[in-house]
Amino acid sequence: MYPKIVCNLDKLACNIKNTVALCHKNNVSVMGVTKAVCAWGDVVDVFIESGIDYIADSRIENLVREFNVEKVLLRLPQKSQIDLVVKHVDISLNSSIETIKLLNNEAIKQNKLHKVILMFDIGDLREGIYYKDDYITVISEIMGLSNIILEGIGTNLTCYGGVIPTKQTLEKLELIGKNIENHFNIDLKIKSFGNSSSIYLFNNFVDFEYFNNLRLGESILLGRETAYGSSIDNMHQDVFLLQAQIIEIYCKPSLPEGEIGMNAFGEKVEFVDQGEMKRAIVAIGKQDVDASELVCLNKNVSIVGSSSDHMIVELKDCEYEVGDVIEFGLNYSSLLSLTTSKYVYRGVKNGK
Ligand SMILES: *Cc1c(COP(=O)(O)O)cnc(C)c1O
Repeated sequence: MYPKIVCNLDKLACNIKNTVALCHKNNVSVMGVTKAVCAWGDVVDVFIESGIDYIADSRIENLVREFNVEKVLLRLPQKSQIDLVVKHVDISLNSSIETIKLLNNEAIKQNKLHKVILMFDIGDLREGIYYKDDYITVISEIMGLSNIILEGIGTNLTCYGGVIPTKQTLEKLELIGKNIENHFNIDLKIKSFGNSSSIYLFNNFVDFEYFNNLRLGESILLGRETAYGSSIDNMHQDVFLLQAQIIEIYCKPSLPEGEIGMNAFGEKVEFVDQGEMKRAIVAIGKQDVDASELVCLNKNVSIVGSSSDHMIVELKDCEYEVGDVIEFGLNYSSLLSLTTSKYVYRGVKNGK
């Protein structure tokens, strides 16, 4: 059935193994981030078989399955989901003491220990305690909670502010970590940084001694680092592709005819007259994916536009018939939205 997103499991395994080997060589454990594929079961299985150290996701709904590695909730827990968080995950990233106290109360109720990683904002301005603020009081409060384990500290970069991880930026967190360790005379087990914008650091400086955990999604799934947007050597960029079926092909003018108002999305679109063109309608739409985030794998096919459930493509010098399937490459945004759409089927393959 189509539309279908197809995952090449061999290529995925290769990307995971390469990443794990690179990180382990640098004494860094890897949290495999599955949110961009909604924790698709076949994909998660390959993560585990290929030696990932943790499975991490931002949605609690994606973490209910049991695995033989620890599960990490990336997004700060919502007050309304505290019971699910304690029930389904081993470690959660946190920044508010109020939330951590609620987790403690719930952990007592469920007779469990819950691990937290305290997040620090070192300039990207998404989540975390701002690094110049007082954190020692927060840590002492956490240490006083019976069922909470302070597993470590972490930071997130290149998410909101686009701040690229550098040695100088990460040193801010290193200073905080060492301060906490000295002040309380403890060892923090996890010193976590990440996401896929950090992978380039391995080739640029070796001073990783302090940090020992990296959270990676896109670099593994799509073989791309996200600080500069380049492909990573020895990694596959085509683990996932989209197959969608043609439901109409006609030669039509490129300019709409009649008085032009707004389209189905309330936008006034400007058209350029390119004469008559061979156009196909493909059965996928904005409800599944933003067409501008798809890459036509056949160079003779180009995307003209889309509405809720139809995508129009131009066909040049290529023989397609109604019923044929066209393939598209994906980026992070299209992978995320296609796996989120309940109208998109999923398939797997092996080999090249
Ligand atoms: C999504 C996320 C990651 C992984 O990001 P990628 O760019 O996919 O590598 C890491 N950490 C946190 C907190 C996240 O929310």
